[in-house]
Amino acid sequence: MKRVGFIGWRGMVGSVLMERMMAENDFAHMESHFYSTSQAGGTAPKVTNGNPVVLNAMDPQELAKMDMLVSCQGGDYTKEIFPQLRKNGWKGLWIDAASALRMDNDSVIVLDPVNRANIQKALDSGVKNYIGGNCTVSLMLIALHGLFRENMIEWVSSMTYQAASGAGAKNMIELLDQMKTVGNSFAKHPAMGALELEKEMNTTLASSEFPKANFGHPLALNLLPWIDSELPSGQSKEEWKAQVEANKILGNTTPIPVDGTCVRVSALRCHSQGLTIKLKKSAHLSTVEEIIRSANDWVRLVPNDKATTLRDLTPAAVTGRLHVPIGRLRPMTLGDTYFNAFTVGDQLLWGAAEPLRCVLRQALQ
Ligand code: NAP
Repeated sequence: MKRVGFIGWRGMVGSVLMERMMAENDFAHMESHFYSTSQAGGTAPKVTNGNPVVLNAMDPQELAKMDMLVSCQGGDYTKEIFPQLRKNGWKGLWIDAASALRMDNDSVIVLDPVNRANIQKALDSGVKNYIGGNCTVSLMLIALHGLFRENMIEWVSSMTYQAASGAGAKNMIELLDQMKTVGNSFAKHPAMGALELEKEMNTTLASSEFPKANFGHPLALNLLPWIDSELPSGQSKEEWKAQVEANKILGNTTPIPVDGTCVRVSALRCHSQGLTIKLKKSAHLSTVEEIIRSANDWVRLVPNDKATTLRDLTPAAVTGRLHVPIGRLRPMTLGDTYFNAFTVGDQLLWGAAEPLRCVLRQALQ
């Protein structure tokens, strides 16, 4: 039985990965060991064939005993530990949620519903590094899989509405803390009119006491149109990832342009995206609908009517679910090759944990 080490299982992505692996009885197929940078010596999650004691995630010798390592710990950890392991001659499989190694030539970005065949080829040919894609990129590719597969797309512009939990556990808790602060301020002035309340809330948001250590700014009652670092192109790093990662996953030699603005909003879980899709040739709406609907087991086409959209195409409706709905699909007035669409997906499931779970099972086969 292969020895598999898990690092980052306490975090947002890691916890969802644990939940999914338990639900699918994955632990029965491996011997599991749990590592932590802060909880070594503690009690590990109780799983079939699991080591009950948490091991030290900062000890390369302890890590090197594994046949495979699955990290949901973050990019800084990967940058520190992964090179040491390889330098010391560790030849195991490295499966990672962080972006650090995604664009390396010797890594594959994994997204089972879209590139399972390419992953199999890589496993057969001895590739050792398998990295989950950026959450919005993976969710967009599952939603638009059919149109990409039929080579119908000239370019896509994606305007994102990304949930607080996409930035990690501490950020999600901070958003709730911000909302509590806003709620407390509202409770002190129940009789104020709307405009007076708006002034009061802005004073609350601007206060030095307002909790913003992780986001750096208020996200409650606000949005933040910049995610990740600045690049010389004027894009944020999150925006840059869309084109490079999508094309790497699709295995395109001629890249399809994908660009837009990435925005953090105060949804708790689930990323949303408004899409402008430029097709190479005009196509009838019913053809586009059918191609999207039939592409994979996870995409769901939501009819473009108000009631169904507001019921089924929101972060609150999609949270904790594996399907990826896409709706608001309609031709645009911009021209007969332009389509509008809106998609929502759980960024902790197909956006993060599920591709890792799938590649782990595929590798164990
Ligand atoms: P996270 O929630 O911040 O967890 C990372 C680590 O922080 C944990 O494994 C844990 O490590 C430590 N930690 C400290 N305080 C904690 C607390 N209160 N609760 C839980 N863990 C705590 O990070 P994440 O969002 O899962 O992201 C992990 C990686 O996946 C990142 O590279 C991220 O970019 C990527 N990713 C995230 C998402 C997403 O939606 N969040 C989507 C796709 C990819 P120790 O046990 O060692 O202390």
